[in-house]
Amino acid sequence: MGDSYIGRFAPSPTGPLHAGSLVAALASWLDARAHDGRWLVRMEDVDTPRCIPGTDQLILQQLAACGLMPDETPLWQSQRGALYQAALGALTHAGLAYPCTCSRKDVEAAQAARGIERSRFTELVYPGTCRNGPTRPGRPQAWRLRVPAGTVHWQDRRLGPQQQDVAATVGDFVLRRADGLWAYQLAVVVDDAAQGVTHVVRGADLADNTARQIVLQRALGLPLPRYLHVPLVLGANGEKLSKQNGARALDLSAPLAALGAAAQVLGLPTATRGTLAEALARWVTQWRDSYNPGRD
Ligand code: GLU
Ligand code: ZN
Repeated sequence: MGDSYIGRFAPSPTGPLHAGSLVAALASWLDARAHDGRWLVRMEDVDTPRCIPGTDQLILQQLAACGLMPDETPLWQSQRGALYQAALGALTHAGLAYPCTCSRKDVEAAQAARGIERSRFTELVYPGTCRNGPTRPGRPQAWRLRVPAGTVHWQDRRLGPQQQDVAATVGDFVLRRADGLWAYQLAVVVDDAAQGVTHVVRGADLADNTARQIVLQRALGLPLPRYLHVPLVLGANGEKLSKQNGARALDLSAPLAALGAAAQVLGLPTATRGTLAEALARWVTQWRDSYNPGRD
């Protein structure tokens, strides 16, 4: 099979793995193994101010302690700026990306009346102020994608048919920030394609980024991966588990217990007997039965 399935786990090294991020790691690994595919690890460290030095190595150690070994040497997005620049250049050349000099305040002011709520990785709906040229020349420029009108439809392997009108609900979104940092949306799409990723398996909190990523894949002429968004672990406050609401780093001395809890979130039985390798092998079999990889 080999190249017919390539999956990945793409943590941001802003903190060590915890019970929540382990679910995405395990699910993406299980799906790759169940398809006899390859599983890659990519460090999404483009938002450098949020990254904590050393966390990348810690995450790799945590994965190894859990028996989740990448099939290739991991990539660091912070070293891939040239690729992102090339993609932005191609979009700009095609008239699909443009510079924007609006400050956050400008966008907020333009949107104040519309009562738009923000979610993860989601900016305020951009009203297209700079579509015909930067409106405040001389200011630092962000780069935005010219989002075509219309609804994006896609199929999630767990959530079923999904749709979003990106133009209306997000607007022309940022590809490169005014401070020079690459936006998650551009980096993830460029790297998934560059690495030949066929199947994206990640937490459900990222599901609402998918339509934007599809818009970008189409604009760049890239193949679309299949998507599976897995359940989240919730913190004490009912929100997605994070460092802010009580997530602790995984206990490396008890990887099987941590994996068992992650497996349970995925609807698999927790391991009560055997070694780590035996538990992982059983989950691969059970995963194969529940997610029907033969059909997707
Ligand atoms: N780096 C993102 C995160 O840690 C995940 C990106 C993805 O899987 O598409 O939330
Ligand atoms: Zn603007």
